[in-house]
Amino acid sequence: ANSWEAKAEEFSLYGFTDLPSVHERGTVVLTHGEGPYIFDTHGRRYLDANSGLWNMVAGFDHPGLIEAAQKQYARFPGYHAFFGRMSDQTVLLSEKLVEVSPFERGRVFYTNSGSEANDTMVKILWFLHGAEGKPQRRKILTRWNGYHGVTAVSASMTGKPYNSVFGLPLPGFIHLGCPHYWRFGQAGETEEQFTARLAAELEATIIKEGPDTIAGFFAEPVMGAGGVIPPSKGYFQAVAPILKKYGIPLIADEVICGFGRTGNTWGSQTYDFMPDAIISSKNMTAGFFPMGAVILGPELADRVQAASEAIEEFPHGFTASGHPVGCAIALKAIDVVMNEGLADNVNRLSPRLEAGLAEIAKNPNIGELRGVGFMWALEAVKDKATKTPFDGSLSVSERIANTCTDLGLICRPLGQSIVLCPPFILTEPQMDEMFEKLEAALKKVFAEVA
Ligand code: PLP
Repeated sequence: ANSWEAKAEEFSLYGFTDLPSVHERGTVVLTHGEGPYIFDTHGRRYLDANSGLWNMVAGFDHPGLIEAAQKQYARFPGYHAFFGRMSDQTVLLSEKLVEVSPFERGRVFYTNSGSEANDTMVKILWFLHGAEGKPQRRKILTRWNGYHGVTAVSASMTGKPYNSVFGLPLPGFIHLGCPHYWRFGQAGETEEQFTARLAAELEATIIKEGPDTIAGFFAEPVMGAGGVIPPSKGYFQAVAPILKKYGIPLIADEVICGFGRTGNTWGSQTYDFMPDAIISSKNMTAGFFPMGAVILGPELADRVQAASEAIEEFPHGFTASGHPVGCAIALKAIDVVMNEGLADNVNRLSPRLEAGLAEIAKNPNIGELRGVGFMWALEAVKDKATKTPFDGSLSVSERIANTCTDLGLICRPLGQSIVLCPPFILTEPQMDEMFEKLEAALKKVFAEVA
């Protein structure tokens, strides 16, 4: 009863944890990491094909990132960004973020997480519409299956049924259709027709709600926690002009997609659209510091600045916004990913990753393989032709993930899917290890549930 596992289960409340699954397989208590591997209290080694939570893209012991943190802790271990003061590292990071953004100009606001960055973006929209004399422009458009975080506002943006137990979404948060053609395309509908249907739904919703009541539209370029769902063909090219027509800002939630995950710096580049603002977090610090950012493009930056001047301040901020250690780490992380070969590794190895997973997806119980770059999902089905999911109290994806864990591989069950989003440092032999363990787990579990 004194084991690490027992203590973990007694004193901690797990976030987003399938408790029956934990009761079946047990807790894993981690002690240290090495490259893409983490180790538990029993000395067992796991290849983390989930990069922590999509964020530990440089692995668990990157010396350059550790050095950047140590150096900054020794110089200046903490400060805020209020009252016209901020650290030199914060100044440098904002300049860098605007430089690597798709915007020719912009402004950055810092938070401690992706949820707070989305929450902050909503407040920025409310603030500027309010200051511009349109306080009724409050409604937020997002999509079913989109994930934007857990604060009351960002959870309201998230399109998942589990939030109803909290009495969320808050009023005025509207969820549109999920652009997943394989799952939601109707019989006889082409992918282009499916995309056109979603665009028509968006326009009809704007007209029904009243364009003048809508503050903004938020979308992940590729839905992450919804189960790795790339947009249907032409999706952003169809929705962006509609939003523009009604003066509704398009905000790209790049918390997962940003900084290399899809093969480009931004997922919006991979899917070829220009947002009005970008939400970043996770990869921005390679997971070495909790930090998020709102990067405003030129138009929103100018409007928020003008509104702030008119009201004399922008009344918002977190104690640790623009934390100097976080900023120093982010500066190094961006450099490591963009200039020291990590993004190149994603581009070099993503065809190999796709090919290996496509081989595994020949399994008759895999309905769909989908993804891009270094983010992929395999969706388990009982019947491939009808796309019927498995039933049962412990989902098949949970069983597969548990079996992978037993084999020393961490991957994530998401709905009926198994998600693979390895760190960018992954080597070819490590990728092969991932394929072998995943395939062994799939074979074992599908044989059990068949
Ligand atoms: N937005 C997206 C797209 C995410 O994937 C996440 C987290 O997974 C968030 C926002 C919330 O970020 P955080 O967990 O740092 O609050």
